[in-house]
Amino acid sequence: MPETASAQTIKTFCRLCEVNCGLEATVDEAQQMIALRPDKSHPVSEGFACHKGLLALEVHRDPDRLNAPIRRAKTEGSQGDFQPADWDEAIGDIAQRLKALIEEHGPESVAMYIGNPSAFNALGAVAAGIFAQALGIKRFFFAGTQDCTNKFAISEILYGSAEIHPIADLDHSDYILMMGTNPRISKMSFLSTPDPVGALRAARDRGATVRFVNPLVIDDLSDVGDTLQIRPDTDAYFLAALLCEIEATCGFDEEGLKDIGNGSSVGHVDRLRDFVRAYPADRVAGIVGLSAETIREVARGFSSASSASIHISTGVNMGQQGALAYWLTQMLCLVTGNLDRRGGNIVAARAFPGLPMAEEPALEETKWGSFRPSRGATPPGSLIADMMGDDEKPIRALLVMAGNPLLSIGGEDKMREAFANLDLLVSIDFYRNATAELADWVLPAADWFEREDLNFFVQGVQRKPYLQWTDRVVAPTHERKEDWWILSRIQQEMGLPSLFDLPGDDALMTLWNGRLEDNGYSIPALREAEGGVVLIPDTPTGQFLSHVAEAKGASTELSRVGGAGGVDSSDGDGEAGPRGGFDRCPDAMLATLERAGEIFDRLESEAENQLKLITRRTHHMLNSAFQNMKVLKTEAGSRKNPLYMNPADAASRDLQAGQRVRIRNDHGEVVAELALDPHLREGVVAMSHGFGNGRTPGMPVAQAHPGVNVNRLSPSGAGSFDPVSGMEHLTGIAVEVLAS
Ligand code: SF4
Repeated sequence: MPETASAQTIKTFCRLCEVNCGLEATVDEAQQMIALRPDKSHPVSEGFACHKGLLALEVHRDPDRLNAPIRRAKTEGSQGDFQPADWDEAIGDIAQRLKALIEEHGPESVAMYIGNPSAFNALGAVAAGIFAQALGIKRFFFAGTQDCTNKFAISEILYGSAEIHPIADLDHSDYILMMGTNPRISKMSFLSTPDPVGALRAARDRGATVRFVNPLVIDDLSDVGDTLQIRPDTDAYFLAALLCEIEATCGFDEEGLKDIGNGSSVGHVDRLRDFVRAYPADRVAGIVGLSAETIREVARGFSSASSASIHISTGVNMGQQGALAYWLTQMLCLVTGNLDRRGGNIVAARAFPGLPMAEEPALEETKWGSFRPSRGATPPGSLIADMMGDDEKPIRALLVMAGNPLLSIGGEDKMREAFANLDLLVSIDFYRNATAELADWVLPAADWFEREDLNFFVQGVQRKPYLQWTDRVVAPTHERKEDWWILSRIQQEMGLPSLFDLPGDDALMTLWNGRLEDNGYSIPALREAEGGVVLIPDTPTGQFLSHVAEAKGASTELSRVGGAGGVDSSDGDGEAGPRGGFDRCPDAMLATLERAGEIFDRLESEAENQLKLITRRTHHMLNSAFQNMKVLKTEAGSRKNPLYMNPADAASRDLQAGQRVRIRNDHGEVVAELALDPHLREGVVAMSHGFGNGRTPGMPVAQAHPGVNVNRLSPSGAGSFDPVSGMEHLTGIAVEVLAS
């Protein structure tokens, strides 16, 4: 659409992924947003943006968006149809029903689920926590247990805060190991950099070795580095074998471990040694599907490089042992002297302190197994339906914010039934999505361009640290409301304290200014800054471990170098040192190490031709979002959700491209069209998740191209999650593929 002379350009930033690219929006005289383009003057993203980010404009003005509250007019024996309602009616009814449930059945009867977009909603994310606290909600599910709580858990255990994640120093590293990541499609997670492929190419150009570890060869990155085609969900054993080889050949960096500053040393060296010695390259080679010599060669390359770094992402996180793998990455950096050193994994500067963990939490015991509640409270999402059927304390009401658990977690059928039987299901979303289709109330959320925001989630993981604020580009259209407002209004209506009780009417100031001020930043200063951006000075390397060792709670000085929170490493055996030392393998890890042995035994007994299903990321999907974008439904892959298979596997099963196949296991069965892909390792099949909108009339484009929900093949309930992190098992799933 042509821009007129009176059109206005407003700087903002993308909130679809962790890159947070700078954008420029054009708003016309009628206050309609009419264009969106990359911001070439952005000091960090410098004009980089991808097609998904620019398509956010089409989501903003999609005619299928939900623009007013709707409620299901349920009658005896019938789910009824959705009817429009006004906000007062919606808030009043929801508040009254929540209040009655809590009075009769206690706060355990109410649960909340927040989806991935909440990580890019500075007001909504905090308001959700306040809402849960006000109502006494303990069963607070979030999409992190589908893709990243392994990292939160390990950072809490090692560094005392879920928000500390040493990132690969792409600009200075001589050896870069990238595991389970597809920087072309997904960019990177927990390593925020514009144009990640460009960053890796630049590393290659200055002579760095870049190696990918992935069951799928990312073909158009072969000029950047080779891919070691590992068997899915065996990354932890690969990492253990690297450590085993390093210890056996050149030894750990003993001097560095003895003195990490201020007289502190690293505890539990022997636990790590004992663990990795059980996984020499010769033993794990058959399990990981890489030769022992290849493993040794990587170990030599990593340990002998003048600097080396590692990045693991969702392909590792979503397996059975993502937490173990993340712990081993920290250990790999530590024992090779690459933790907190230039070219290794560094602790990026941040604009506000990472929240410290008060103390190691007790395991939550449930009838489906115990789990360590990361970030204070999060049960595995794969228990959501089971907890609704809990005969002692069932969940009776669920409030979903920016999420679609029905398609994002294993066990769709069980969830469908459980959701339909709830006393109250509320969805706050842009669309009447698959989960919302079962709701009593669906409330229309304002989108990225209709709210003020802050790039809070990526603090501490940015290659070039900066803080960015954006004003709303346009006011919320129709009856859309911001998530924080919706939650606060429900609280208010229930007679509970809410954000509306706090002085002033500036929610961003109220919720964020205090945290920013700890590091010398502020919301008023950000609002005045050019483009809303303030660059954060880099912090010196070499101080992180001593800061962690010293810390006994958040301190401003510590938070400037990225650390916050103490580590209680005292354990009575004299090895870990006094409270405040840095413990390499705290007690919280012990059950995980034992579990690794059990899983290894199971893998050893698997049939040689066992197929493993992995999640495939694509240019036309963003988890379960973007499914209603017609413009993205142009390729077969975006319309049908095929099953990808290596041609050799298809030939050995007498299967042809284009034919219908059944993919099945103990958890479920789906039927899809077969597509061949020689870039997949033999023995590995792949599908994208987020499809399965056959019963989602509120998203007609998605419904016209429903595909199938691959998470039907993922486990739910007992045995479906990693106890140390609550991570659900969503990739590397054993399946059988048959002609349909
Ligand atoms: S790379 Fe991520 S942040 Fe940048 S435009 Fe694309 S989706 Fe948005």
